[in-house]
Amino acid sequence: MRVLKIGLRGDDVAQMQTALNNLGYNPGPIDGIFGPRTQQAVIRFQRDRGLTPDGIVGILTYGALGIDFTKTTAIVATNINYTYNVMEANIQELQRRYPFLEVGIAGQSILGRNLYYLKLGSGPNQVFYNASHHSLEWITTVLLMKFSENFLQAYVQNRSIRGYSIRKIWDMSSIYIMPMVNPDGIDLVLNGLQRNNPFYEQLILWNRGSTDFSKTWQANNRGVDLNHNYDASWQLSKQAELAYGISGPGPTRYSGPYPESEPESKAVADFTRAHDFQLILAYHSQGEVIYWDYQGLAGPQAQEIAKQFSNVSGYALDQTTGIASYAGYKDWFIQTYRRPGFTIEVGRGTNPLPISQFPKIYNDNEELLLLASVITT
Ligand SMILES: [Zn+2]
Repeated sequence: MRVLKIGLRGDDVAQMQTALNNLGYNPGPIDGIFGPRTQQAVIRFQRDRGLTPDGIVGILTYGALGIDFTKTTAIVATNINYTYNVMEANIQELQRRYPFLEVGIAGQSILGRNLYYLKLGSGPNQVFYNASHHSLEWITTVLLMKFSENFLQAYVQNRSIRGYSIRKIWDMSSIYIMPMVNPDGIDLVLNGLQRNNPFYEQLILWNRGSTDFSKTWQANNRGVDLNHNYDASWQLSKQAELAYGISGPGPTRYSGPYPESEPESKAVADFTRAHDFQLILAYHSQGEVIYWDYQGLAGPQAQEIAKQFSNVSGYALDQTTGIASYAGYKDWFIQTYRRPGFTIEVGRGTNPLPISQFPKIYNDNEELLLLASVITT
């Protein structure tokens, strides 16, 4: 709980405005901004209730408004199957609580689901974090959603997280977050194959005859592995497929007919081209490692940043080999922009990782996510 007065903004201001309005004191638009009209409403309310009419909402005024500000309910749940619908509802809820949050749509999936992005901060240093190129790795979506919620809350409360002033980051950087690159694939994994899916018959075929996608399916709904669909040694990825016995759409590692053939990967690439990202993080879930290079192009500065990431997360540094070393998003970013790009692999064990790993994954990555937004290159 914090004392509210003119000039502040946030979810607590919006809740206070709602309570005033319900009691017949019009605070102006309920927008989470404590402006002059809200202040006048507070003063009228305080006068009527025999409180000091100072326009400041402290413990007595809170009590008179009937608000228990000792607890705020978390929006992002971190102990459930995190489906597209849950994420969409959470994004809307975050927008209600934090009216200044910028939310956008970078494109649509094959089945028409929105590729949402959130923008945290308003500074010139643009960075981009994305998650869940691979459907079995949906726990990474929860990571970025929870990070966003905690970041927004710390911003309105003017708090630091792990010693990083969130207000300072907000003014210095703009963190673009795309929490779910592959919503259709995640829907297959978590909700199963629906009868009205336009690829119903093919998907079963591509899944080797099985209707159970919950442990196998990494691709989008056309059987393309989105993280093998970028224009970075894409031909080599294509050749490597054959060695893995892949000749067409399937659960994993099929690179598609040509680079950026899929609306999801094309939307991510277009979004990147439309911005000026100094650094990107692509989140995956396999093995607690950080991949930082692409064919020797990353350079010593990226390696230095990778070491810092390793220090704050406890993850090892590694280089991709074989089929995993081509056509990924971070590969394309490094090749195209010669700026630092990282694949962060969270967690250990077989995908999909159990959600019970979430607290450790969050703890491992929180500082990394903050640090990545303040490194200037
Ligand atoms: Zn992955």
